[in-house]
Amino acid sequence: MVEKRGIIKMTTEQQINALRDELREHNYNYYVLDNATISDYEFDTKLKELQALEEAHPEFYDANSPTLRVGGEVTKNFNTVVHDYRMYSLDNSYSLEDLKDWETRIKKLVDGDVKYTCELKYDGASISLTYENGKLLRAVTRGDGFQGDEVTANIKTIKSVPLQLKGDYPPKFDIRGEIILPFDGFNKMNEERIANGEDPYRNPRNTASGSLKLQDSAEVAKRPLECLLYNLTGENLGVESQFNSLEKARAMGFKVPEAAKLTNSIDEVFEFINHWDTARHDLPYETDGVVVKVNSLFQQDELGYTSKAPRWAMAYKFKAEQVSTKLNTISYQVGRTGAITPVANLEPVELAGTTVKRASLHNADQIAKLDIRVNDTVFVEKGGEIIPKIIAVDVTQRSADSQPTEYIANCPECDTELERIEGEAKHYCPNYNGCEPQVVGRIQHYISRKAMDIEGLGGETVALLVKEGLVSNYSDLYELTVEQLLPLERMAEKSAENLVNGVEASKQIPFENVLFALGIRFVGETVAKKLAKHYKTIDALASATMEDLEQVDEIGIKIAESVVAFFASEENIAMVERLKAFGVQLEISAEKLANQTNKLEGLAFVVSGVFETVSRTELKKLIEDNGGKNASSISSKTNYVIAGDKMGPSKKAKAEKLGVPLITEQEFFNQFSILE
Ligand code: AMP
Ligand code: ZN
Repeated sequence: MVEKRGIIKMTTEQQINALRDELREHNYNYYVLDNATISDYEFDTKLKELQALEEAHPEFYDANSPTLRVGGEVTKNFNTVVHDYRMYSLDNSYSLEDLKDWETRIKKLVDGDVKYTCELKYDGASISLTYENGKLLRAVTRGDGFQGDEVTANIKTIKSVPLQLKGDYPPKFDIRGEIILPFDGFNKMNEERIANGEDPYRNPRNTASGSLKLQDSAEVAKRPLECLLYNLTGENLGVESQFNSLEKARAMGFKVPEAAKLTNSIDEVFEFINHWDTARHDLPYETDGVVVKVNSLFQQDELGYTSKAPRWAMAYKFKAEQVSTKLNTISYQVGRTGAITPVANLEPVELAGTTVKRASLHNADQIAKLDIRVNDTVFVEKGGEIIPKIIAVDVTQRSADSQPTEYIANCPECDTELERIEGEAKHYCPNYNGCEPQVVGRIQHYISRKAMDIEGLGGETVALLVKEGLVSNYSDLYELTVEQLLPLERMAEKSAENLVNGVEASKQIPFENVLFALGIRFVGETVAKKLAKHYKTIDALASATMEDLEQVDEIGIKIAESVVAFFASEENIAMVERLKAFGVQLEISAEKLANQTNKLEGLAFVVSGVFETVSRTELKKLIEDNGGKNASSISSKTNYVIAGDKMGPSKKAKAEKLGVPLITEQEFFNQFSILE
């Protein structure tokens, strides 16, 4: 810097940087703090000045310059990125009692007082932002929770997303939030569309999430999207509580709504909910509930996760919008397991921005409980589910000659008499191998992405194959030939070959997926994994008794019964034998087996505290891989408690009282020869 009589003369680089800093600050004041500190005109003038300088001096290019907010980058295909930390879903509750129950469950699992951070549940599309050295590195959609699409170019155009952080920040971290479209901006967009003769958008939420996948980022830049943040994720974040982390995020320049509140008890949580149940109508954006989170990160860690959601958080959903309409008819659908689902066909009606024509009636009990009848006027509500539900009947509108609904006794597809298993809500059609929707549904499930993932074969083709008598169960797929397929409608040589090749390739799909693909009732993805790991071969599983099965971690009586029933059928056994003969993977691969032992078989562990050599998650995985069981709380059935640093005193006392030995991680490794 050269100083001349008090006037500071800046180099071009300094000038560019000064403008960038200034514009960044104005952006922050306007979009994050909602507090403009400069007129639009002045802002535009400075932005143009910066643009001109950057164009003249490309050597000072910065991917995070405020000039790049206007977009322009076009993405043809979004990259798939695996999240460093999984993006979980949230468990939902619909009443204060549900929350009270949740509190009771939590207090059994953690020591000491529990405080809660209450936040609003923003209704948009979730996003994960990764920052490195204070700069936005990438933005990824939630996708399936494990991996999502990289939409960085689009996210950069959202002005409330900082491209450069302020103050103190961890060297690398993820921050999660929701991309939303406030009502105001949404309405303006629609006014413009209507003026242009285009159809208006239905609702802010779908418009926000649709925006993330637009190919032209300049289009995204035109949409008044906002990003509201709610979660810091990573190592060494320098925070000890959820509330703390929100404050920290704010200090780094993120937009974190001020509604977030730290509460000291579940009663204070209720007050927060009651307040926002009405106050939410004055918010500039949509919210469909409140998210309650255990405040202490240490306690959060103790509570951990279920296969879908954190145990330390709970979403409370506000009561949804309702409308009334007429119930025209009730129809019955048969699923792949033979389960019957009654469906209400409604007089079309507008509800929360969409036209509703159908509603699920769940089962016979539900119809009887609400006394739902054809021609009734019913109240329809849209909760979290996509399919709305009927919540009550307006009996004052009912005609005098109305008759109660009689549930069907026979299958609407094959006329077989329906069965209802003691204690189960649903009716089933027992015609397992002869009822078309079951036969088709089972094969469709078999070929689906999470099961055998058969390329070149779709659901409609399956229905056609069954109708034409080419297949009657999934093992028949392996005998299909191109010659057989060619005469089918719309089946070209190429697609027939693809189909046959896709079926062939499925012989490489791992055992756990095959087990899921078999379509055994109640054996979902997670259960299939557990069973595959435990039994290792289909033969071992097929010969397991009820008692055997119930010994397996988290396998209850319902699943056990269903597995035993599946393998009790000669037809099923024959089908499995055929699959085996075709070369489908019906046992765990040798490679997978190599990492697994039975060293810890029959032993239950509780892992508590913070560890030195491995993370808590890794430790739990080691226990499972070696055949042990992880329990969430100490009981007389616990064999060992592996105690890390900061383990709670009441846990310690409980272990001592029950005579459960406490061991350190090192003792665990030595005693059981783990990690050798
Ligand atoms: P759901 O999609 O119903 O399982 O709810 C989980 C989603 O709620 C998350 O993926 C987030 O995108 C969203 N969400 C909105 N607001 C919050 C918040 N304050 N805290 C956590 N998640 C939130
Ligand atoms: Zn049937």
